Amino acid sequence: MHRTACFAFPGSPLAAMERKKTAPTFSITALMPRAVIGIVLIFSPLAQSQDPTGNRLTADPKIAAALKDISAKRIQANIEKLVSFGTRLTLSAQDPASVSAGHGIGAAREWIKSEFERYSKDCGGCLEVKTDSFTEGPADRIPKAIQITNVYAVLKGADPENAQRIVLVTGHYDSRNSDTFDVQGDAPGANDDGSGTAVSLECARILSKPKFPATIIFLAVAGEEQGLNGSQHFAQIAKQQGWNIEAVLNNDIVGGNKGPEQEPGVVRVFSEGVPVAADEKQLRQIRSLGGENDSNSRELARYIADLSRAYETGVKPLLIFRLDRYLRGGDHRSFNQQGFAAVRFTEYREDFNHQHQNVRTENGIEYGDLPKFVDFDYVANVARVNAATLASLASAPAPPANVRLDTGKLENDTTLTWEPARGASLYEVVWRATSSPEWEHAQKVGNTTRATLKLSKDNVIFAVRAVDNEGHPSLPVVPEPER
Ligand SMILES: [Zn+2]
Repeated sequence: MHRTACFAFPGSPLAAMERKKTAPTFSITALMPRAVIGIVLIFSPLAQSQDPTGNRLTADPKIAAALKDISAKRIQANIEKLVSFGTRLTLSAQDPASVSAGHGIGAAREWIKSEFERYSKDCGGCLEVKTDSFTEGPADRIPKAIQITNVYAVLKGADPENAQRIVLVTGHYDSRNSDTFDVQGDAPGANDDGSGTAVSLECARILSKPKFPATIIFLAVAGEEQGLNGSQHFAQIAKQQGWNIEAVLNNDIVGGNKGPEQEPGVVRVFSEGVPVAADEKQLRQIRSLGGENDSNSRELARYIADLSRAYETGVKPLLIFRLDRYLRGGDHRSFNQQGFAAVRFTEYREDFNHQHQNVRTENGIEYGDLPKFVDFDYVANVARVNAATLASLASAPAPPANVRLDTGKLENDTTLTWEPARGASLYEVVWRATSSPEWEHAQKVGNTTRATLKLSKDNVIFAVRAVDNEGHPSLPVVPEPER
């Protein structure tokens, strides 16, 4: 029932034969009657060790050009504008008078909306600007019932079928000072999380120019500091309505706080290990197969790292295999809880004097989350990593479905099968040692739905990804065992 293709390792006699052909290898099987398709090239470990390319992705020139449009100056202007509202505490003013006076979270919300609308005007109405409003509280950090509003812009995918697939970038536009109930005092929130909000905005501005097959959502949530309320509501709605969200990029504290020990070339990417949404059966499988390092969020984190080697972003992701920092949480968790792949971007070294603090000077130390501590070039670089990931995933085919690993008998080869993905021109099998953090090898296997490798499934972790004719890779999918 599965088609089998012939494919060759670089340097093998079959590869030499294939180099002479003008047509890509995947077209061979398309021309063959099913009955004669049965040739399997078995990859040998020797060939594997000779593979000079490893797992190296190549940049799409169109995406690389779009990344150049990201502007540190514009990001700075957006962060300063967010700070100008005085406070963006979720409990702060939202009445019409405060909105027109430009004070409080209501004014911030209206401004974010107007920015998305402005970008949409520049692309002929390509963005659908929406709000998600709901009533929350009373709760721990919400003394009485209030309205919370998330603002988002949808860049609908150009391909009707792939448009069902969604990639999403988010930051929280609410802020706080030392007292999470102080509705009056200044809470500039330049870094936490004016920076993340500015990433969502800037990604919307530059990515609304090209077209992508899949849908991109640019989100700014509120209620983060009161208990992740905005993201929880949004993720729950997405789950209830069956949205196919493939990836969530949460940017929270990506301002690159300027301090002597900051690493401006590094951004941390946090991802959960054992998925919080895993059921009992999935947990049993994770335990028995060593799947604790392969949540869909972690595959997303690895994808970001792979991609950052292909694009010039100015900042290198440092993968942190942990949901979040000690004592802290973030909006990616809300999406994880609903079973979506979601990661958190945060600067390398946080300065806790410049977060959740009243603006003041004490003993010569300046406290408060002010724009002067933000490195706008750094935020722009983090925005580039985000935009590259969003654009690449929105261009790529869907990840292959029903990826299976044949465990029918004891053998030292590995056979993988999967279902075809819309838009795929070929598939790649990637693998790594069980003790390795990132994918180490990638092998093109043609436009097929089955591959056998001369590598023991007991010794490595495999995954399969779909690639389109321009080289955009999908997220890799780790197979389920099948007898
Ligand atoms: Zn935050």
